[in-house]
Amino acid sequence: MFTLIDLPYAPTALEPVISAQTLSFHHGKHLQAYVDNLNKLLPGTGPIDLQLEDVVKQSSGAIFNNAGQILNHNLYFTQFAPNPAAPAGKVVDQIVKQWGSLDAFKAEFEAKGVSLFGSGWVWLAADKDGTLVITQEPNAGNPITKGLKPLLTFDVWEHAYYLDYQNRRAAHLSALWQIVDWKVVEARYVK
Ligand code: MN
Repeated sequence: MFTLIDLPYAPTALEPVISAQTLSFHHGKHLQAYVDNLNKLLPGTGPIDLQLEDVVKQSSGAIFNNAGQILNHNLYFTQFAPNPAAPAGKVVDQIVKQWGSLDAFKAEFEAKGVSLFGSGWVWLAADKDGTLVITQEPNAGNPITKGLKPLLTFDVWEHAYYLDYQNRRAAHLSALWQIVDWKVVEARYVK
């Protein structure tokens, strides 16, 4: 059985960047539906014993879409905090090394989120040597299918922002930096 993760903060904790209403639908309805779908697609004991990441790497079609969306949302929801500490750590040092500044990185990340046509995710990921890359993944895509380690992601499906920002995807992506917990990103990077 795959299960719905608990959010590591209160429903109102991310306001005004993400409203309690958006969080309620996004976590309680959208993510729950992906979990329910995957459990229907993988009944019994075979692949269900696999880790979610293994399912994503090895599947296609409906199983990939639902497993990918669960993995993506699990990484997404757990990377936020209401009052995160200032960005610091090896991953931030590497960002500054590659992009020149954290602001320059944020600008490129946001631009790649804005320019992703339709539904999908923009990712910060690392290769085996720790070199960072920003990737655009359509629909349920995750950079682990390219052999990369996913570190940070912004969801650009309309359900992630439409209640709060309507068509203003860029404004939503720009606001998300306020709640990114860089300690979580760092832990993923050094793991
Ligand atoms: Mn979503």
